[in-house]
Amino acid sequence: MNQPDAQKTLSAAWTRIHHSEWNQIAWFVRLVNTDMTKLSEGDLLKWKEDFRAMECEDSDLGIFQRPSENDVRYWKPNNLPVRSLPNLPALEDMQEVRSAVTQVLTDLADGRDTDGPRLYAEYYVSFKKTSVSDEKRGLPRYQIMRCEIGQPLILYSETLPIRLALLLERHAEKVRRCLGCKQIFVQLKKTRKYCESRCQARTSMQKLRKRRKDLEDKKLASKNQKQDRRSKGAVRGKK
Ligand SMILES: [Zn+2]
Repeated sequence: MNQPDAQKTLSAAWTRIHHSEWNQIAWFVRLVNTDMTKLSEGDLLKWKEDFRAMECEDSDLGIFQRPSENDVRYWKPNNLPVRSLPNLPALEDMQEVRSAVTQVLTDLADGRDTDGPRLYAEYYVSFKKTSVSDEKRGLPRYQIMRCEIGQPLILYSETLPIRLALLLERHAEKVRRCLGCKQIFVQLKKTRKYCESRCQARTSMQKLRKRRKDLEDKKLASKNQKQDRRSKGAVRGKK
């Protein structure tokens, strides 16, 4: 696939996912609730493209972030090489991601402690002397570089669970289990107990039907009892 086509599938994927953090977590929840082995070929391709979008999107999810309040003081790389798009994941890669994030999201939905993936990284701060001419132009005497060195994350099964863990730092409490269908969902409002209003309506309808049926069963049972007693009485009367 050439680069412009790949870019097109990327932006199509983001149209499906949406960029907000809530929507990204909702995407992970959809992944947990989707059986990857039962997808049509077209849907599977869409999921693969979504995976790639989530994998390569540059975001503010850095682990050691450069503080933005002092932009001059902190060194900014300006000639970073453009990263080429990663290959689409294989079904096994997707399954691996799915089972890793299922563990975390299930624990959170059911109110248990949980851990995100473990990442080994080295971190140091470097002080870079500004050239005399730049200093004369008013730049600070030193520029600060925050450096992270870690094994490069290249596998979907490494990058995506970390992405989810970073998102959950701010939204963990929104991951819940629906009282109706028992699936995991992300709360939009704190009071939401159901994945969607249709599910809530369906559940209260089921409850209502069950209550009606229980009542009818009870009526029927007492009617049968009365009849039973009457027929026994009739038998006794014959004697
Ligand atoms: Zn539901």
